[in-house]
Amino acid sequence: MTILLPGATLGVMGGGQLGRMFVHAAQRMGYFTAVLDPDEGSPAGRVSHWHVRSDYLDERGLATLAGHSDAITTEFENVPAAALAQLAQQRPVAPGAAAVAIAQDRAQEKAHFNRCGVPCAPYAVIAGEAQLAAVGDELFPAILKTARLGYDGKGQVRVASRADLRAAWESLKRADCVLEKMLPLALECSVVVARGGDGAMVHLPVQRNLHRGGILAVTEVHAECVPAALAARAIEAARAIAEGLQYVGVLCIEFFGLEDGSLVVNEMAPRPHNSGHWSIEGADVSQFELQVRTLAGLPLVQPRQHSPAVMLNLLGDLWFRNGATTAQTPDWPGVLALPGTHLHLYGKTEARPGRKMGHLTVTGADVAGVRATALAAAQRLGIEAF
Ligand code: ATP
Ligand code: MG
Repeated sequence: MTILLPGATLGVMGGGQLGRMFVHAAQRMGYFTAVLDPDEGSPAGRVSHWHVRSDYLDERGLATLAGHSDAITTEFENVPAAALAQLAQQRPVAPGAAAVAIAQDRAQEKAHFNRCGVPCAPYAVIAGEAQLAAVGDELFPAILKTARLGYDGKGQVRVASRADLRAAWESLKRADCVLEKMLPLALECSVVVARGGDGAMVHLPVQRNLHRGGILAVTEVHAECVPAALAARAIEAARAIAEGLQYVGVLCIEFFGLEDGSLVVNEMAPRPHNSGHWSIEGADVSQFELQVRTLAGLPLVQPRQHSPAVMLNLLGDLWFRNGATTAQTPDWPGVLALPGTHLHLYGKTEARPGRKMGHLTVTGADVAGVRATALAAAQRLGIEAF
């Protein structure tokens, strides 16, 4: 892989908040950036040197992005494989289409985890009547998840027993699905891994995640957040999964810690992840700088966490507190009055419930202080305590 020095242009497929933070990291290091996203007001499009407004499958749009860019990455996993394939004919693309295709499909993803020897929840692939009928009783209670295009808990239905399975599958419009056994979770955590074109690999520390309503609500990263032995296993598993894909880029793996102390892998995202946002202020190399480095072929150094961190997601719900029917701006001055708070807003003009509008990272000298500040910020914003 050739090294692209600052001054080159890095392209990204997708203009959401992940693309925006990638663009910020790239520009800080002296790169030019190009974003492809159909939305005129997309968070990354607004801050990029180039914004190609086109559909992800528009051949001219893709050619324009490739024309601007010296190398191209992606900020969401549902970029059509055909688009990545077209780009790859003209420019280096990382991660590659093959790895993205696996991450796009829960059935392929689980097969990959099995190949790497990392256990996942017991599951069955459901792609038709025969498989629906053949599901074993031991999988219930279960969650039915569409194999493709799910995010933030969308495309998922809980299924208490076999009797409910058919109705659940109909409600997902008989899409190809995986049916997963519901596991007794003690905790959720994730690991961000970066792997370079030369095979070098580094990772961020294990991140403890709290989901509410299927959406990430809080991430904590400090020595006390996950038992050390479990954290070590998660890192080892994440590295094996990246290695098995011959992955180039930033990859985030989500895990469940079960009540019996075992670790199972949930899913992976072929890009930086919401649970890694804390690294912008809490580590000396952020997940977005890792994405820049892997794409540009720059050296990877092991990031060092220099502060305990808590990240709170700022969902659109915070604009509609106490039954408000029109959006009310949350108390940003009240939150910024707390030492160690770092406010990120993604430039989305319209707040809607469930929409990721921004996040708040809290850093500080010690875990107790950071947690106390994060709880105070949560209270000022109307986020439930954790
Ligand atoms: P995202 O893309 O936002 O991470 P998603 O829509 O892809 O989410 P999953 O990560 O599969 O969905 O599941 C969302 C959440 O649902 C998990 O973080 C976990 O809290 C819960 N969950 C999912 N699968 C299981 C399971 N097998 N057992 C228990 N809880 C589960
Ligand atoms: Mg998930």
